[in-house]
Amino acid sequence: MSASEPGAPLTALKGIGEKTAALFGKLNLATVEDLLSFYPRAYEAYEPPAYAGQLEEGKVQAVRLQIGGDVTVTWVKKMQIIRATGRDMTGAVKLCWFNMPYLKTTLKPGSVYVFRGKAVRGRSGYSMDQPQMYAPDSYEALQGQLRPVYPMTKGLTSKTIGQAVSQALKAMPVRKDPLPGWVREKYRLAEYNFALRQIHFPDDENSLVLARRRLVFDEFFFFILRVQQLKENRVKKLNSFSMTGSEYVERVLDRLSYQLTGAQQRTLREVFTDMEGEGVMNRLIQGDVGSGKTIIAFLALLKAAEHGYQGAVMAPTEVLAKQHDQAFRELLAGNEIPLRVELLTGSMTAKEKRLAYERIKNHEADIVVGTHALIQQGVEYADLALVVTDEQHRFGVHQRESLGEKGKGQENGKDPHTLVMSATPIPRTLAIILYGDLDISVIDELPSARLPIKNCVVGPDKLPNTYEFLRKQAEQGRQAYVICAMVEESEAMEAENVTDYVKTVRNHLPEGITVACLHGKMKPKEKNQIMEDFAAGNIQVLVSTTVVEVGINVPNATVMVIENAERFGLAQLHQLRGRVGRGSHQSYCIFINRSGSKASEKRLDILNHSNDGFFIASEDLKLRGPGDFFGVRQSGVMEFQIGDIFSDSNVLKDASEAAALLLTEDPGLEQPEHGELRRMMELDRERIRQDISL
Ligand code: ADP
Ligand code: MG
Repeated sequence: MSASEPGAPLTALKGIGEKTAALFGKLNLATVEDLLSFYPRAYEAYEPPAYAGQLEEGKVQAVRLQIGGDVTVTWVKKMQIIRATGRDMTGAVKLCWFNMPYLKTTLKPGSVYVFRGKAVRGRSGYSMDQPQMYAPDSYEALQGQLRPVYPMTKGLTSKTIGQAVSQALKAMPVRKDPLPGWVREKYRLAEYNFALRQIHFPDDENSLVLARRRLVFDEFFFFILRVQQLKENRVKKLNSFSMTGSEYVERVLDRLSYQLTGAQQRTLREVFTDMEGEGVMNRLIQGDVGSGKTIIAFLALLKAAEHGYQGAVMAPTEVLAKQHDQAFRELLAGNEIPLRVELLTGSMTAKEKRLAYERIKNHEADIVVGTHALIQQGVEYADLALVVTDEQHRFGVHQRESLGEKGKGQENGKDPHTLVMSATPIPRTLAIILYGDLDISVIDELPSARLPIKNCVVGPDKLPNTYEFLRKQAEQGRQAYVICAMVEESEAMEAENVTDYVKTVRNHLPEGITVACLHGKMKPKEKNQIMEDFAAGNIQVLVSTTVVEVGINVPNATVMVIENAERFGLAQLHQLRGRVGRGSHQSYCIFINRSGSKASEKRLDILNHSNDGFFIASEDLKLRGPGDFFGVRQSGVMEFQIGDIFSDSNVLKDASEAAALLLTEDPGLEQPEHGELRRMMELDRERIRQDISL
């Protein structure tokens, strides 16, 4: 098959055999088409050379230097080392190369080169190991060019990916632009083929900005069109369940150890009004971390189950599902409520699953708690009246769609109510665009008994104090999370990082303190065990990747240490921080900033002064500015591939306006000008149908 044919596999490209294709597979890339929409994660520019006196520690920089008269060659074991010193008016830099004998003749005393490498400060000034070397005029020619940097996996470099992309682009026939001409004109968007080429290999920064804006627009535009379709499908659906009042809900509220906040009460009323109303509920509960969304979901499920229906709650991780399951069982037992909870997760054995499916189908389960396994085929409900999705921001519109479809698939033909919960701190205007298919309740108040979390942003020099603090807290009976960032975007390396890091943490703490480790590569069973032990207080310090990010509730945990905090988006940091400050003890969050750059200090400082997710998101937006796409991505908030709802909020608004105009003028996308669009939307729907019947 030639690489230019639709659906061509990656092996159609030269130099990609089965082995390399398997590596690409780890990045979820199977076809040439997939590769073309695998965008770089960053770009590398050749910056103008700095002066020796301007070098910054730890940064890769270029510097123009004259070679001094002290070029030496030494041997250490079987390795040849060449050392030289380069100077300019402002200072000197020590240079060193390994096993590159031919350099000896090039490095003539008095010659001038541009050296590019990582500058490291030692006792006697800066040095660079293995710097790249360029003649000054050839370096000048490189300046201004941008090279793509792709997300990597073990065994596959950014360069290999770049070469494959380059081939794929050459083989690609010119495509018809899916956006109608009037949209492109009105919003001044670049042409599609141009954008696709330039996003990979930009001619210059300006072309990159244009290309990116176009592709971000597409991503948002199609998303919004799908949301609008969902909305169409959802209106006019009638409520086929009758549930007025609830004795169980009254009982639980009476005996609850705390009072619902005003915002929780309002939200609960909105939810119940929907459930008792004429139409089917489609509601989003938005509330910051720790605002108490879970209890609202539980009460809604309770109401449905009390009236003889089934309810389901779906969580993004198995750990969270388990936690909800346990909390729910305790709530029922504590209030003598004879309802049956069923846990459904991916790590259950086939037999366990089959038995659970049977109980759900025979209505021997009233409330089902689980992960995505819930939406997979095989689960049939006897009488499903309510589906709750927790931490919705982790799910894309695809899952939202399939959840709706699942409900439709009920044999009794009834459409269940849906409730989605999200801690995404997004402004209401954006929420209305992204969740246009849903009504929105906002819990904008934290339980009053909470002590605000104390924050600090420190450099790595404060690590000894941090360990000391962890020790003291542990001795007082409290628990802590230590989060390490992944260095490479690959799970294998992530696991390595954490296991190494956990050793360091252990070495710095007394033996009596139990330190455990949690990362994405672990089996779900292991993860669950660790989380259970942590929740039970058998583990004092949990060293983890961001897998603990969503939803986990261990009120006794009071310290959150985040390593390499500069690598995370603020929204994500805020989510992570939300794991502490959930109980009555004073909680602390320590952000370790290893970058030392002013910009990241300023960013992190926002967290230092605020515990308010909405405020943080808006401040971050101000600081980053709309064009800032070389910065850290706000991961953790709706997984768009290239767009970022915060920094690209202007494009999001444009795309939303364009979608509205399009649908008013041509709701069925029937005009010839919109043919390409319609075709794409249909393809997309087809794909979702396939996803559901996995
Ligand atoms: P989130 O909104 O992040 O999902 P949770 O629902 O997990 O938050 O609630 C966090 C913690 O706050 C839980 O331990 C819960 O029992 C407690 N909580 C919820 N509502 C209140 C309230 N009104 N007053 C005091 N504590 C509350
Ligand atoms: Mg939660």
